[in-house]
Amino acid sequence: METILQNKTATYLTLGCKLNFAETSALGDRLTEAGVRRAKESEVADICIINTCSVTETSDHKCRQAIHRMIRQHPGAFVVVTGCYAQLSAQVIAQMDGVDLVLGIEQKGDILKYIVERWPLHEAQHDSNCAKSLHETIAVPLKDIRTFVPSCSRGERTRYFLKVQDGCNYFCTYCTIPYARGRSRNGSIADLVRQAEHAVELGGQEIVITGVNIGDFGHSTGETFFDLVQALDRVEGISRYRISSIEPNLLTEEIIDFCAQSRAFMPHFHIPLQSGSDDVLRLMHRRYDTAFFRGRIDYIKKVLPDAFIGVDVIVGTRGETDEFFEDAYRFCSEIDVSQFHVFSYSERPGTAALRIPHKVSEATKHERSQRLIALSEKKHRAFYEKHIGTVHPALMEHTHHDKTVRGFTDNYIRVELPQTGGTSTDNRIIPVRLGAFNADNSALTAIITEQNIEKHE
Ligand code: SF4
Repeated sequence: METILQNKTATYLTLGCKLNFAETSALGDRLTEAGVRRAKESEVADICIINTCSVTETSDHKCRQAIHRMIRQHPGAFVVVTGCYAQLSAQVIAQMDGVDLVLGIEQKGDILKYIVERWPLHEAQHDSNCAKSLHETIAVPLKDIRTFVPSCSRGERTRYFLKVQDGCNYFCTYCTIPYARGRSRNGSIADLVRQAEHAVELGGQEIVITGVNIGDFGHSTGETFFDLVQALDRVEGISRYRISSIEPNLLTEEIIDFCAQSRAFMPHFHIPLQSGSDDVLRLMHRRYDTAFFRGRIDYIKKVLPDAFIGVDVIVGTRGETDEFFEDAYRFCSEIDVSQFHVFSYSERPGTAALRIPHKVSEATKHERSQRLIALSEKKHRAFYEKHIGTVHPALMEHTHHDKTVRGFTDNYIRVELPQTGGTSTDNRIIPVRLGAFNADNSALTAIITEQNIEKHE
């Protein structure tokens, strides 16, 4: 498709989650189809796209810094800012020197159209040597955010991130995401299957299923997340799927059972607990209690004893007294999970949590977070140690400059192969025996047998 932007260059910056990365990649594809080339690293680009995040106060700060930096590095470029921070703080961003256009979540998918429409004005100003940025905002209120922008982006060589759902209807008291991304909506299973098939054509072997609240899939189409999982499993050529973060109340026994006997769904789950204290879970308006969460973990371990389970926890939310934190810590110690992803609570404007009286000091948040990180390291190491000596299929990614090859087993153990004597294992799934920890303790050494090499040469 030839457009006014033919032969222009663009640079992209993404902040935040995997979902944002998948979306930026889809925006990039649209600009590429319109004749826009990706700027080289040292090149001053004609267009800058910044896809922002607003999950914490620090994220907002990083976004503002990133916008300033992009404007400095690409003088005269047409600067577009979109994403969650753009939706929530459009006016603040639009007033920044050098920003031309702020696009809300609903407009993100039409980015090309908005740039093309404004390009003549931008060029005229540029040519007249009195370049002024446009400082324009196009966004709609939260209730009018309805569009689902599909995207499937390439991570490393072998892995793709498929966005299946957007928005959230849960409104947990600490969370700003439903205000930035709107109500839960999704692509149709038929469209998502087509995107998975396209990833196969491009050489993808593994797909990570992403979204804001993926278990809540189906509001737009009357389908369910379980229907989606079954349909994706039938896509020939994809060897592995991983389900990214899924709410515990939506990770049903039916889904877990299916993963246990499926062709391609990996024994790997990422589940947000957020707090191991029932009192704090109530303050957060989470939709389960610790007994329910424990039941989910026990069920996964019953049907998939080797499964890797990563768990999100927030420390220092309003209302988390010393006593409640001790309850939470005890619960976290007891459950059979492989790793915690520990986040410090950040006050977000407009959220219901601001009405909860007990505020936790930064020093206490730090101390609590350090204790949970230490617990996580212990559990992570124990999970790896338990698997030493066992054989697992590993998807090897690419050879590093030190000639080692790294990859992940089905159950998300990071492995490192020493040199393979001329046999390339890049982008291949091979059975490996797990040996001792590598030099920096970040992976297990993988041992490939003669038989394996013959099989895969
Ligand atoms: S489920 Fe809760 S924490 Fe997750 S996006 Fe929705 S409101 Fe935020």
